[in-house]
Amino acid sequence: EQARIGVTGLAVMGRNLARNLARHGHPVALYNRTPARTRSLVEEFGSEGEFHPAESLKEFVDSLERPRRIIIMVKAGAPTDAVIDELVPLLEPGDMVVDGGNADYRDTRRREKALRQQGLHFVGSGISGGEEGALNGPSIMPGGSAESYESLGPILEDIAAKVDGVPCCTHVGPDGAGHFVKMVHNGIEYSDMQLIAEAYDLLRHAAGKRPGEIAEIFRTWNSGRLESYLVEITAEVLAHTDAETGKPFVDVVLDQAGQKGTGSWTVQNALEFGVPVSGIAEAVFARSLSGSAELRAASRGLPGPAETWLDSAASDRFADDVEQALYASKIVAYAQGFNLIQAGSKEFGWDIDAGAMATIWRGGCIIRASFLNRIKEAFDSEPGRPTLLTDAHFAEALGNAQAAWRRVVSTAAQLGVPAPGFSAALAYYDALRAERLPAALIQGQRDFFGAHTYKRVDTSGSFHTLWGGDRSEIPAD
Ligand code: NDP
Repeated sequence: EQARIGVTGLAVMGRNLARNLARHGHPVALYNRTPARTRSLVEEFGSEGEFHPAESLKEFVDSLERPRRIIIMVKAGAPTDAVIDELVPLLEPGDMVVDGGNADYRDTRRREKALRQQGLHFVGSGISGGEEGALNGPSIMPGGSAESYESLGPILEDIAAKVDGVPCCTHVGPDGAGHFVKMVHNGIEYSDMQLIAEAYDLLRHAAGKRPGEIAEIFRTWNSGRLESYLVEITAEVLAHTDAETGKPFVDVVLDQAGQKGTGSWTVQNALEFGVPVSGIAEAVFARSLSGSAELRAASRGLPGPAETWLDSAASDRFADDVEQALYASKIVAYAQGFNLIQAGSKEFGWDIDAGAMATIWRGGCIIRASFLNRIKEAFDSEPGRPTLLTDAHFAEALGNAQAAWRRVVSTAAQLGVPAPGFSAALAYYDALRAERLPAALIQGQRDFFGAHTYKRVDTSGSFHTLWGGDRSEIPAD
């Protein structure tokens, strides 16, 4: 008997994905460049299902039923190309190659095109949830042809996380759509984490609460509208004590955040498309700033405000304010991320169903949250909506939160606690609301120094003012 699906690349992700497939009754072919990984998988977990280990790529390919379904789970970038190049000569028209790594969607577009020309289906699939998700149910974001999804979809939906019986997997769209959506997912994750970190920082360094107390606050929040995996694990991390020193764990960890690059990809793409994702950008920059050890050391002596703490009465009320600011800022972060998905979808003709993306993020992935149901409803009621912020539920929540949100941002500024995520989110909200923006002045400046021309509010066409002459206005086109 032949295997229904194959996995090549059996490090943590590939191994767990293969086990997940086998546990769901799908016979899985296995191949890894270094055979020791294949052998140890079968030795340790062979009893979990039907595995077909192979020691050569040819043997692996031959062990699969046709058309073949192959998931590549290797290091993103050049290794993925190397594996594809090795694999393609062994395949036949109609075979399907899934890249489950964190690929750049532009690479996915290139690979999809190349394989399509050879009669093969290439499926760039975002997979979120880390190793735990891969084993017990990830959120899966597959791109590629509709035809390949017909064959792969049922298997992927089978192993994906389920929420209310609905799988966290759907066909995202053609070629790079899946990896694009995965990239934005990661950008939103950055933003979400940054906002939570700012909430903690304010409770700690403005309201004077201890990590253990803040853990309790997060626990309470996790039973309300902020219920999410990230808020849940935040409480766990804050409650944890370092065994060595007896200090709060958060105090013994070096405060320099790492990043693997998908947050910055999101921002780079947003810059290219001209989509303001200020919350995600601030989150990426906040990590970069945290890691700028030399810059921080040189700046440590700069003066701060005289007052650095809230008084105790204010600090008791403050936690509620921070909850409001966090919820409002989170709405903004998601609104910005979804705008980027819509922009990518438009640019590449992907026709992505935004509401369906909210649905498949409800489980399995790092940003899973009950709040995503609201986002789904918002897109169901108006699929092409310009922004999530104007959805009735979110608009009301923002309206109710705004006074507290403003207090939090101004408190942060007054007490000298950096809150770039909260501040950027509020500025975005106010800028979108504004009747008039100072962009009119910028147009004036651009016309003054560069004759870049401007449009008028009261008539059509472009104009230029003769700034160096008699300052009369002339039509510019
Ligand atoms: P790694 O990214 O560490 O990649 C290791 C695997 O790649 C090994 O199987 C290795 O084979 C193989 N490999 C590397 N170079 C080559 C090559 N030139 N030819 C053949 N095989 C090669 O593994 P992970 O499991 O952490 O991640 C796999 C993919 O999943 C990555 O793209 C990652 O970004 C993505 N991902 C990871 C998540 C995570 O939480 N770790 C979450 C979501 C996605 P060998 O054993 O022979 O060295």
